[in-house]
Amino acid sequence: MDNDVAGTRTLQQVIQSVPTSDGAGVKLRRSLGRSQGLRLDPFLMLDEFSSDDANDYIAGFPAHPHRGFETVTYLLDGHMLHEDHLGHRGDLKTGGVQWMTAGRGIIHSEMPQQEQGRMRGFQLWINLPAREKMKPAGYRDLQPPEIPVVPLPGGGRVKVIAGTLVLDGQSTPGPIQGLTTDPLYIDVELLAAATFSHAVKSDYNVFVYPYEGSVNVGPTGAARPLDAHSAGALSAGDRIEVTAGAEGARLLVLAGRPLHEPIVQYGPFVMNTREEIEQAIRDYQSGELTRPAA
Ligand code: MN
Repeated sequence: MDNDVAGTRTLQQVIQSVPTSDGAGVKLRRSLGRSQGLRLDPFLMLDEFSSDDANDYIAGFPAHPHRGFETVTYLLDGHMLHEDHLGHRGDLKTGGVQWMTAGRGIIHSEMPQQEQGRMRGFQLWINLPAREKMKPAGYRDLQPPEIPVVPLPGGGRVKVIAGTLVLDGQSTPGPIQGLTTDPLYIDVELLAAATFSHAVKSDYNVFVYPYEGSVNVGPTGAARPLDAHSAGALSAGDRIEVTAGAEGARLLVLAGRPLHEPIVQYGPFVMNTREEIEQAIRDYQSGELTRPAA
């Protein structure tokens, strides 16, 4: 029993989200990445956007560059169109995910396709290892039917975006697999007072982000409360345990293999050294950022 408790991760750090805006004035809440000390390797940033007021999102994210990492957009409600310099168009609708690998360079726009109604979702930035930062750009658009939904015993459910969910010996692989950072990205819905428990690799970094309701994180007896719209970074251990409050909860659970590499970020460029950032800026200005590899 003591071993079990020792193996279940506890809530170590709460990173509250703060209101900010990005793109052409889209209002959002940033938790991870709101300052450079508040990352959780390999996760660089988490933004949540949620509004029923078109003024908060209608301006969208006009054309802008990225280099050196991946962006994952998960739309809970709404309709966004992604277009990039390679001619890709991705139509992101309620329940869909776009997994974009910026690699050596992409210039894209992310624009709302609705003039009213609710727009709600997340953008997560995941780092790439040094040896993959300059690989060709690419992306995957995942429509809702490609994202498995696993019912939980007694109610609630889990959507598996990346990695593999294992419940009662039953494995459910998500559509995104085989990345160096090996992310687990799941969206968990819990009924009131229900507990979700799942294995995680003990050397991975893990955080949870409730976006509806509140949760208690950690083993029975050592659980600590975490309110909605805050990222909770967990201690070491090989299991997570989350219990919903009296109103039930919806939360993201993220786990990933840390890269343990130096990070130098300048806006939309995330590299390992200052020189590589200066190169990225020069490449963007000269058009080299998006020139096809020879
Ligand atoms: Mn972008």
